Amino acid sequence: MKKFIVDTMLGDLARWLRIMGYDVAYSKGYGDQEILESASLGNRIIITRDRRLYGKAKKRSLEAILVESIGTAERLAEVAVKARLELRADPFLSRCPECNGELSVTEEKEKVRDKVPPQALRAYKTFYVCTRCGNVYWEGSHWENIRKTIDLARSIAASHQRKAEK
Ligand SMILES: [Zn+2]
Repeated sequence: MKKFIVDTMLGDLARWLRIMGYDVAYSKGYGDQEILESASLGNRIIITRDRRLYGKAKKRSLEAILVESIGTAERLAEVAVKARLELRADPFLSRCPECNGELSVTEEKEKVRDKVPPQALRAYKTFYVCTRCGNVYWEGSHWENIRKTIDLARSIAASHQRKAEK
């Protein structure tokens, strides 16, 4: 499975890639040097908007992707095409968008009672607990928007691919 490290300007993209289940290192405090070292030590692909950082990565023969598009779906599509990633929306595969931790699935409401509003506790059966930071997630209505954005990204990616094949 491919792993990534995302530059400080692309926090939103980092969250989206984690929601899709990819292992993504991200911190607001990363400097170029840290990103380059962590990519090289951890075998992570660099995703950046910064041409200089991209150039430095290429010079060291590190795998890197330069993001040039604007907008969530457009960026997801661009990364999917360039990194050959599957654009997927399945909470069972997600990682914690906050901390990149793996999620464990539970149907035991007692375990999550403290961290889930009563309404959601009643309405949902399956909960996802971050094994690192303890955040709890469920497939609430926001997942409709997640699926819409990822569907849109898929169709943009498909049109990029068609253009590339011509
Ligand atoms: Zn977490």
